[in-house]
Amino acid sequence: MAADPIDATQIACSPDDARRRIKENWIRVCDEVAQAATQTGRGATDVRVVGVSKYVDAEVTGWLVKAGCRDLGENRPQVLMQKADWFSANEPDVAGEIRWHQIGHLQRNKVRRLLAFKPLIHSVDSERVLDEIHNEAISQSISVDVLMEVNVSDEAAKTGLPVVELPGLFERHCSRVASADSGEFGARVIGLMAMAGWGTDPQQARPQFARLRDLRDQMRQQTNLALPELSMGMSGDYAAAIAEGATMVRIGSSLFSGVLK
Ligand SMILES: *Cc1c(COP(=O)(O)O)cnc(C)c1O
Repeated sequence: MAADPIDATQIACSPDDARRRIKENWIRVCDEVAQAATQTGRGATDVRVVGVSKYVDAEVTGWLVKAGCRDLGENRPQVLMQKADWFSANEPDVAGEIRWHQIGHLQRNKVRRLLAFKPLIHSVDSERVLDEIHNEAISQSISVDVLMEVNVSDEAAKTGLPVVELPGLFERHCSRVASADSGEFGARVIGLMAMAGWGTDPQQARPQFARLRDLRDQMRQQTNLALPELSMGMSGDYAAAIAEGATMVRIGSSLFSGVLK
């Protein structure tokens, strides 16, 4: 599924054109996100755009950062870590401003090293991974923000926790946090994430986004967690996601349009 990220010699145009196109794309996407946000009565900057840079290598990712993007999403933890190291070495001035987002499946054996990069982890899709992040964060004396990824489509092929597992998982997690003396350290669940899946049209995606928001509201009622964040919406369906309350949209291909072959 994950093709290797392309580099500056493999793009569809000259590097100068690519930089210009990425900048135009970034401005256009931000405008459209701002417009969709204000239509729901929120502020123009209330919905955060996570630039999904998995399609391109670190250098081309740097062009997106130059365009103004400071939130970068990667689906493979290995690549996230390599790129973060690349920015520290090659773009030290902006490296500290970048917020990394782990948006793809995370294996437990990658958790320990990933935490050093202070990512927001969107894709916690099992209780085992949540426990691993929690334990590891406590042992490193840090707090890690995470989102639980939920399968809101009821299709077996889709990623994320089955909806029926959410109440039990939240209950056990909250009672663990309450009974342990770990202070502010550990995994902090700040919301939910879902994918409508590739090729789903926005009309079909919208009820799935509404379902994720309802689940968030239910988990809020059941626990005393604030759960402010809803990460939902990609290039093809982010307007629908924002209409249903998305606070973060994960956008890749729209930002690289005209640049990728
Ligand atoms: C690739 C990816 C995206 C971005 O998808 P686009 O359609 O390219 O905008 C968003 N979320 C996840 C989890 C992804 O893997």
